[in-house]
Amino acid sequence: MNPREKQVAIVGAGVAGLAAADEIARWGVNITLLEQGPSVGGHAARFNCKALGECVTCGACLANERRLHVANKQNVSILTGVRITGIQCAASFTIRYQLTEDRNPAGELKADALLLTTGFKPYDPSDKPYGYGRFPNVLTLLDAEGRLQRHGHLSCPSDGQPPERIAFIQCVGSRDSRIGHPWCSKICCGAALRMARLIQQRRPQTAVTFFYIDVQTFGKNFQQYYDQTRRQVRMVRAIPGDIVQTEAQRLQVAYFDPDTRKALEAPFDMVILSAGIAPRPDNAILADMLGMPLAQSGFFLSHASQETGKGAGVFTAGAALGPMSIAESIDSAGKAAWDLLNYLKIEVMPK
Ligand code: SF4
Ligand code: SF4
Repeated sequence: MNPREKQVAIVGAGVAGLAAADEIARWGVNITLLEQGPSVGGHAARFNCKALGECVTCGACLANERRLHVANKQNVSILTGVRITGIQCAASFTIRYQLTEDRNPAGELKADALLLTTGFKPYDPSDKPYGYGRFPNVLTLLDAEGRLQRHGHLSCPSDGQPPERIAFIQCVGSRDSRIGHPWCSKICCGAALRMARLIQQRRPQTAVTFFYIDVQTFGKNFQQYYDQTRRQVRMVRAIPGDIVQTEAQRLQVAYFDPDTRKALEAPFDMVILSAGIAPRPDNAILADMLGMPLAQSGFFLSHASQETGKGAGVFTAGAALGPMSIAESIDSAGKAAWDLLNYLKIEVMPK
C-alpha cells in the first residue's frame, strides 16, 4: 500500500494528537490535525519545567518536542479554530467542519482513518465552597502554571505580590461520586508537589501547606522525592470544608485537623486547587456522529477501533480515554498510531 495515497484525520492537537501525528507521519501517510482551540499543544503546553537542578520527569518538554517535530513534517497539515459539524462514515470518512476565524468558514475533509485525541476538560471548581471565580487569589493549578509562564514567578492576582503562605488543596472535582466524578485524576498530586517544590526553591521563605486525602505516586524515584518534599512542605491529611476571604484579602481555610482532632482555621495569601480531569462535553457529540458508545463517565471506551463494521477505522488516544499523564498520553498515542497503520495496511519496519 502506498502510504502517500492515505489520509488520516486527527481530531485534537494536544500532546496525544501531536505524538500520534509524529509517529504516523514517519511512514509517509498524509495527516490533517483538526484543533478546536487557537493553537496546538493542549493543556500540556501550559505546564512549566519543574527541574530542580535535575529533571523531575514532569513531561512538559515532551509536548513541545512533539510540536516541533510535527511542525517540520511536510505531510502534516494543521487547522486550528475548527468545529466539526458532521462526520459521514462509508468506505472512508467525510468530515465537515467550520473554521471560526475564516471568512469562508465551511470545509470538508476526506480521510481513510480517524483518530480522536480530544483530551480532557479541566474541572471548573466554581461550585465548590472555595471561592474560585470570586476570590482573586484562589487559583487552579493550570491558572498557577499560566501565571508562572507569563510572569516567570508566582504572584497574587490581587496585588502582584509574591504569596508568603500558600495552600494546595487536592482532589477538587475528583474522587467525588456526588458530582459523578469518582475517578482519581492521576496527574494532580505530582503536578502540585512539583509546583510546591519549585515555588520553595525560587523563594525559600514561602510557607506551603498541602491538604490531601492520599498522594498518588508518580515517577520511579517518587519515594525519595516525596521524602524530600515532606521536609519542606507541611502535609495535612484533610480536605478543607470552605474558604472565607477577609477584608485584607487573606484566605481563611477551615479544616478538620487529624492530629489534634479539632476544627481549625488557617490564613493563606494564595490557595491553589488541584482541579481534576473531566471528559470533554463534545465527546458525546462526536460519539453520536460516529455511532460509537461512550463510557458512563463520558470518556471514550477503548483506543482500538472495530476492524470491520460500524466504528471501523476510528481510533482514540490520550486523555480522551480517561486521566493520563503526559508520558502516558504519548504512550497511548503510539499504540493507537500503530493500530491505525496496521488498519491502513501500511508496511512498517519494527523500530
Ligand atoms: S521532563 Fe519536566 S523537569 Fe524534566 S526537563 Fe522536561 S520539562 Fe523539565
Ligand atoms: S492525583 Fe492526587 S489530587 Fe488528583 S485526584 Fe488523584 S489523589 Fe486526588
